[in-house]
Amino acid sequence: MKLVLLGPPGAGKGTQAAGIIERYHIPHISTGDIFRKNLKEGTALGLRAKGYMDQGALVPDALVVDIVVDRLTEPDAENGYLLDGFPRTLNQAIALDEYLAKQGDHLDHVINVKVDPEVLVERAVGRRICKNCGATYHVDFNPPKVEGVCDKCGGSLYQREDDNEATVANRIQVYMDETSPLIDYYAKKEILVEIDGQKEISEVFQDIISVLGE
Ligand code: ADP
Ligand code: AMP
Repeated sequence: MKLVLLGPPGAGKGTQAAGIIERYHIPHISTGDIFRKNLKEGTALGLRAKGYMDQGALVPDALVVDIVVDRLTEPDAENGYLLDGFPRTLNQAIALDEYLAKQGDHLDHVINVKVDPEVLVERAVGRRICKNCGATYHVDFNPPKVEGVCDKCGGSLYQREDDNEATVANRIQVYMDETSPLIDYYAKKEILVEIDGQKEISEVFQDIISVLGE
């Protein structure tokens, strides 16, 4: 199964991805996670991406597409994957389609997680992530049992540098301008699924699996 999770920053893509990949046994490919890992390791790619990420701007298409294509050729992606945070521009979407077409392949579903803009800032600013396993929490909406500590692995939780109000506002605007046209693009291909991302986390998950099947 080859899936894309579409939706604005803070919509709940990463949160839902955790359940989806466990259920369907496919890898979670998040371009944001790839950039953050590179930044942590101090690679040239991480350093190039940093300036864009700090401002909430998009990393240039040429850089992103090559990284994703490389990742899709790894053995664990052979039978499917969940793309999260990619594609984010029409050029990226077209590049992905071209890559898939060359293999005689195509995406199965694009899941658009819909959340009102007013809710997004609150969600992103309250987001906390486990340093060790990457699990996502929210200080109010999905708090860990012990403040600052991951329920799953005991790792400590941190706040992303770009999860501050000003940067989040910019990321939402960038989403509106650059990414939201993909909704129409995939609707025309008849692979778009619209999901109400404002329900409880578990209800959103049920809605997603009822579309994807058992
Ligand atoms: P994205 O990957 O789309 O940027 P995340 O999955 O990281 O979004 O979620 C953003 C924040 O919102 C996190 O703190 C997460 O715990 C919280 N969250 C996710 N889904 C919901 C939901 N359905 N209701 C309330 N809060 C949610
Ligand atoms: P995310 O973790 O998806 O919220 O992404 C964090 C940041 O990484 C974004 O604000 C961008 O700067 C960068 N980024 C992630 N994915 C992409 C992409 N597909 N295209 C361009 N920039 C991206």
